Amino acid sequence: MRASRSLQLLLLLPVTLVVLAALLVIYGALSSVRQQFDVASAAQTGDLQVIEDAAGFSRDIGLIQKRMSVALEGAFAGSLTELQLYRMHTTIVNDLDGLGQRVRRLADSELVLDANHNSARGLQEEFEAYRHFVIMSTDVLAVDPSVASAFMEQAQEHFREFSIFSSRIVALLAKRSQERNALQTETFSSVHTRVLGIGLFGLALLFALTYLVARGASQRMLDIADALSTLTDSNEARIPLPAIEAMHRRSRGEFGRIAGTLLNFRNAIERRRKAEEEAFQLAFYDPLTRLPNRRLLVERLQHALQMCERQHNLVAVMMLDLDDFKRINDTRGHGVGDRVLIETARRLAGALGEGDTVARLGGDEYAILLESLGPDAKQAAAEVEHRAERITRVLAEPFALEGDTLFVTASIGITLFDDRLQSLDDPLKHAETAMYQAKKDGRDTFRFYDPAMQAQLEARLSMEAELRQSMERGQLELFYQIQVDEHDRVDGLEALLRWRHPERGLVSPAQFIPLAEESGLILPIGQWVLHTACRQLRAWADHPQRAGLSIAVNVSARQFRQEDFVAQVRGVLQDSGADPRRLKLELTESTVLEDVEATIRRMQELRALGVRFSMDDFGTGYSSLQYLKRLPLDQLKIDQSFVRDIIADSDDAVIVQTIIAMSHALGLEVIAEGVETREQQRILLEQGCRSYQGYLFGRPLPLAELDPLLP
Ligand code: C2E
Ligand code: MG
Ligand code: MG
Repeated sequence: MRASRSLQLLLLLPVTLVVLAALLVIYGALSSVRQQFDVASAAQTGDLQVIEDAAGFSRDIGLIQKRMSVALEGAFAGSLTELQLYRMHTTIVNDLDGLGQRVRRLADSELVLDANHNSARGLQEEFEAYRHFVIMSTDVLAVDPSVASAFMEQAQEHFREFSIFSSRIVALLAKRSQERNALQTETFSSVHTRVLGIGLFGLALLFALTYLVARGASQRMLDIADALSTLTDSNEARIPLPAIEAMHRRSRGEFGRIAGTLLNFRNAIERRRKAEEEAFQLAFYDPLTRLPNRRLLVERLQHALQMCERQHNLVAVMMLDLDDFKRINDTRGHGVGDRVLIETARRLAGALGEGDTVARLGGDEYAILLESLGPDAKQAAAEVEHRAERITRVLAEPFALEGDTLFVTASIGITLFDDRLQSLDDPLKHAETAMYQAKKDGRDTFRFYDPAMQAQLEARLSMEAELRQSMERGQLELFYQIQVDEHDRVDGLEALLRWRHPERGLVSPAQFIPLAEESGLILPIGQWVLHTACRQLRAWADHPQRAGLSIAVNVSARQFRQEDFVAQVRGVLQDSGADPRRLKLELTESTVLEDVEATIRRMQELRALGVRFSMDDFGTGYSSLQYLKRLPLDQLKIDQSFVRDIIADSDDAVIVQTIIAMSHALGLEVIAEGVETREQQRILLEQGCRSYQGYLFGRPLPLAELDPLLP
């Protein structure tokens, strides 16, 4: 993605500004130093020139002096002619003129005047005096050398004075130069300090500005991130984004644009939510009363059923219809009718709990869904009755509408149900039936749907509760029914469960096994049966005649399908010390056919332990030969329904014959159950079945009564 230009600017601007300012200041400082340096160096050059000139004067005057001495000596000795002396005079005068001009220039120069005004004047005066005496001396040289010598001495006197002035000027200029140097050094060091200070200050400023800018930018990024997560997380209809709104107002660049886009996005979400909310309202709510409609009620009903399946709670549906509502509508008009409906809705909602649903089904018909009524049917019914009474009470309050007072009553139908419901429509239909019953019974009342059904439901539920406690209370017993061979010799037994109920007496497994399956109680119960049977096998193991007996144990589908069923059986065998080969597990066709592959695997694991299998109630299911071939079975057990009619019904006889033939073909044992007569046994034997179980040989009995039948 292209870097944001304003972001770049935002970061570069302060840096550029600070660097620019620092450069300007440094440039200013350096050029002022440079100026000062130029002035100082010009002055220095002037001073040096003066010093050099001053040195030149002494040298030049020295030359003049030398010429003068030569001329004087020549004059005294008379070795020089008058013409020669004159020429020398002229040369000296010329030299002095040149020198005089330079001295004047020097004395008039601003540098010297500036250094010392008096010295400049003194220098010039002394030179003029010197010049005067030298000229006078050379003038009289040819005439009187001694006078010339006296003048010369005078001139030398002035030359000395001149030298004093010139050396003073040199000293002053040297001092000034020193001072200037010191000043320059000082200036340099102060500029240095200033530049350093400015640099440090600029750096600090740069840091501060960069920090501020970075902080500002990161704060905005955070605001954007926060806004995005608010947009994704919030379920509210309105999503306030104050930071983004402020950013949109204040920022122009990319941040402003991002903020604008976020706000547009937010607005789109809000619009969509609103539209969804409206669509939802239209689809699931009654526009007049704002109560859920039938559709939503059915959905909640479905959900309630799922919940009660998990938690085993009961659910109730009430159907409520206002009595004589048509009359209100006809006599007072639809406006009042609508107001009554709205007020009724308000009162119903007020009379019920949080988790309950009040719906308007149409017209003056309402439905109420009550959940979480607990597992106890009696308590649930009492609770529902209590709510129905409360509803009747709140509706009995007068309706004050437009100065009018109206009295409204309702007829209520109630149905109570659990997850074993056949169809979702049933509760509504049942509640409606009960509601009509309430109308028939004089209105302003409530009725339960089919009291007999309610009673049955209650009975079933209480039985389940009792079954739950049966094991702890030692009410479960294992009966045994013998299995015999063709010579009536006992070679095995089937363990059959009994529930010895204090009031109901001996309850048949046909009654309570399905209940135990539904509630899952079959798992601990089945485990107990297996344990009891295996302990019995172990008890017989040391008995010479009974050691060879096997016990067949019925295993229910739910029990067999437990992940750890094989481990459970192995554990029971180990705990009891029973011989696995004496344990036979009876499975039904439906158990086996549900998931054939898994069943085969599980059966093979158990067979590896030595356990054997019998297919119970064989012939009633849909086992095909194909499956049968693959199942690791040991025995087929012909269902008693075929045995019962084997004589009278030729179809049954053929079925039995086929089963026996099939078992032989597959190399399986075959046993017939429900054998009650010798005739039945004879026919079975004729067809090749040599094992039998039935009342003819012995009924299922408790262990104590079984003894005489055993070898
Ligand atoms: P089942 O396994 O088919 O058991 C045979 C049923 O036939 C037993 O009924 C037995 O009493 C009955 N019976 C035996 N001989 C005759 C006869 O000659 N004539 C007639 N009319 N009936 C005979 P019971 O004991 O009432 O058991 C019913 C069913 O309950 C069993 O059918 C079995 O499916 C189930 N059951 C019994 N005990 C257990 C158990 O411990 N666990 C499981 N999961 N189910 C069991
Ligand atoms: Mg059985
Ligand atoms: Mg059976």
